[in-house]
Amino acid sequence: MKKTLLRKYAKLAVQKGVNIKRGQGCVIYAEVAQHEFANYVMDEAYKAGAKWVQMMWSDQPSMKLQYRHESLTTLSKVEKWEEARLQHFVDTLPCRIFIESSDPDGLKGVNIEKMQKSNIARTKITKPYRDAMDNLHQWSIIAIPSEKWAKKVFPNERKSIAVKKLWEAIFACVRITEDNDPVFEWAKHNANLKEKYDKLNSYHFDYLHYQSKNGTDFKCKLIPEAKWTGGYETMKDGTTFNPNMPTEEIFTSPMKGQCEGTVVATMPLSYMGNLIENFSITFKDGRAVDCKAEKNEELLRKMIAMDEGAAMLGELALVPDNSPISNTGILFYNTLFDENAACHLALGRGFDEVIEGYENKTKDELHKMGLNDSLIHVDFMIGGPELNITGYTKDGKAVPIFINGNWADTL
Ligand code: ZN
Repeated sequence: MKKTLLRKYAKLAVQKGVNIKRGQGCVIYAEVAQHEFANYVMDEAYKAGAKWVQMMWSDQPSMKLQYRHESLTTLSKVEKWEEARLQHFVDTLPCRIFIESSDPDGLKGVNIEKMQKSNIARTKITKPYRDAMDNLHQWSIIAIPSEKWAKKVFPNERKSIAVKKLWEAIFACVRITEDNDPVFEWAKHNANLKEKYDKLNSYHFDYLHYQSKNGTDFKCKLIPEAKWTGGYETMKDGTTFNPNMPTEEIFTSPMKGQCEGTVVATMPLSYMGNLIENFSITFKDGRAVDCKAEKNEELLRKMIAMDEGAAMLGELALVPDNSPISNTGILFYNTLFDENAACHLALGRGFDEVIEGYENKTKDELHKMGLNDSLIHVDFMIGGPELNITGYTKDGKAVPIFINGNWADTL
């Protein structure tokens, strides 16, 4: 891929993704195979005023070997030096850039139970550090092709062509062309999303009803104090950043424990390096009480049973069927893209920042208001051209939100 375009993308991640502050630290997470692009991002971070940049390299094949050869006890352990590093991040609040490029099937064959149990154990120790940085630092996830990922998306192409095609698709999704200014494009995009969610918020919906010919029939209550939002996020000190690039969704966190009905997935879900396919989840009293999947049903069940909050919802997101990512017609096998191609829900943790006045509330207070919490937050897609969503106000007025997969005229 052309160096000028790669530079543009790196600059976009630094300036619009994390919107780095002069003198701030920056942590970049990338796979070792992606060192060339990661170094562009590093360079742009310094140019934008980063005081220091720390690379956090990873490698999926090495991770697979660790899962295979290490005991559950060893895998579950978070060493003291790892905790010290996390504490250092909490103390210094660097911005964090995640460069995603993993192979959707990269952890196939790993003992799921071992992988999941060790993940739970590690997350229990690392989550307090992450919570302590919440809303106090900027972070952003972007993606670039790896050969394996590209071959999964374009299985009939030669490796080099598959990678090129995936680059082109990614650039289309993140609004980068040869002759535009993507930083300006993103400012415009953020403003458009804001106009939409402001309108949605003006209705103060009590609950939503989802219906589709594929079998989805589902009602979900909203948190009265929760707002719809999308695009950029605002930190406690007012700094804005774009946590996901691309992003097309407008989302909120629903009232935990108050939804009913069945949702049918419209895309496979890549979870822990495995694909869960053709599945549905049934909710009762706000909890997932049953699920079916043609492939990897056991993994889906384990995911839902991971902890108390994993069976409840943390996100409702609206994405029109007619959107740039959906229009590529490509199944990316990567949540960052696929979640922005279709309406989706997420099991697990809700978002603090959707609650009005969250800045002055404790985590405990937010959870009491109905915000879900869990070690996981996993998106799954239920949108498509047949989905209708109706919003109901407190006084029983029905307002169409989505008709046949796209925004209704009322919005
Ligand atoms: Zn989402």
